[in-house]
Amino acid sequence: MRPGRRLYRKFLLIMPQRDYIVFGQPILGEAELAEVTETLRSCWIGTGPRTARFEAQFAEYVGARYAVAVNSCTAALHLSLLAAGVGPGDEVITTPLTFASTANVIIHCGATPVFVDVERSTMNIDPGQIEKAITPHTKAILPVHFAGRPCDMSAIREIAGRHGVTVIEDAAHCIEGRYRDQKVGSISPLTCFSFYVTKNMTTAEGGMITTDDEQLAATLKMQALHGLSRDAWRRFSDDGYQHYEVTCPGYKYNMTDLQAAIGLCQLPRLEPWLLRREEIWRQYDEAFMKLPCHTPAPAADHVRHARHLYTLVIDTERLGKTRDQVIADLHLQGIGVGVHYRAVHLHQYYRARFGYLPDQFPNANWISERTVSLPLSAKLSSDSVSRIINAVAEIFGDERSL
Ligand SMILES: *Cc1c(COP(=O)(O)O)cnc(C)c1O
Repeated sequence: MRPGRRLYRKFLLIMPQRDYIVFGQPILGEAELAEVTETLRSCWIGTGPRTARFEAQFAEYVGARYAVAVNSCTAALHLSLLAAGVGPGDEVITTPLTFASTANVIIHCGATPVFVDVERSTMNIDPGQIEKAITPHTKAILPVHFAGRPCDMSAIREIAGRHGVTVIEDAAHCIEGRYRDQKVGSISPLTCFSFYVTKNMTTAEGGMITTDDEQLAATLKMQALHGLSRDAWRRFSDDGYQHYEVTCPGYKYNMTDLQAAIGLCQLPRLEPWLLRREEIWRQYDEAFMKLPCHTPAPAADHVRHARHLYTLVIDTERLGKTRDQVIADLHLQGIGVGVHYRAVHLHQYYRARFGYLPDQFPNANWISERTVSLPLSAKLSSDSVSRIINAVAEIFGDERSL
């Protein structure tokens, strides 16, 4: 490429574009504005009645007895591991194809993450390989429902049951998911959700833990608020001042009513939004079927896929372009994308501490080098979806679009 052209390309790369399609846009409207305003007017902006209402409604949505609201899924995972008794010397089995925090929190507990490779088709942890990774130190299995596709929970529960280890689900992608006749959130002793900006619903930042176990719920609640004794958030209410006791050195992980206000408005719209994402998903599938890439495998009949991420795995050999070149091309066309994920075992800290080699988890490594996630927000207009489809077709050299 001539130097002039290269400079021009560079200029385009840093130019903000007016009609840029941002990846993972949330839908926030009048309802959220009104509820947040009302919360501010009430002056109860910390953890209070709206958080309690959001917990109750969320528990009902997933069919769990208890839901504990926290300020992130990372916090939810950390508290769940602690509640499951994970500590120094323990091992927790998880997938390398996840957001770093799934593994980071295991280290926060003083335990060791033990990665098990994913299946290429489902991109979920391969249950056939979990058994080999179990040792006398294994305390929990932490599966991630990648992109919204529920893991093989029957197999995972069977292995966990046989070895007496806990299952904690990372359902950050999978709020609407279902496995056989159970909603995700009602299957395992502990399930963790994320309400980060780009997730299927948001509270700006936020997370939730669901459980059927009253004792676990009480422990989680206490740990999320400095380890203070029961119902500490009531202590400034009009019931009069109440003393509290510190029962353990807990954390500062509580959700605020400002966050819950947003969540209360988002929750009833999860199902219609899912329908819209299913529609976009079908359009993508149809448009990209014949391109040099792998579209996501169809969902099995016995699960409901929560359609969080539409991930293409680029056939880089056939296309003659790297994934990062494809991302740059999409950016030039005003389309923002995500990468889910550069596998955790390839990151600097994990390589240095555990000495991982890329090919130790060959499927995760293969996906990690080739995957790109297209915008899938229910907010996308049909014009935006068409623009994305045309841009991908052009970049992947589909003759029909040239
Ligand atoms: C987003 C995400 C998290 C972390 O969620 P936060 O709410 O941002 O802490 C954890 N695991 C997975 C798989 C995620 O996608």
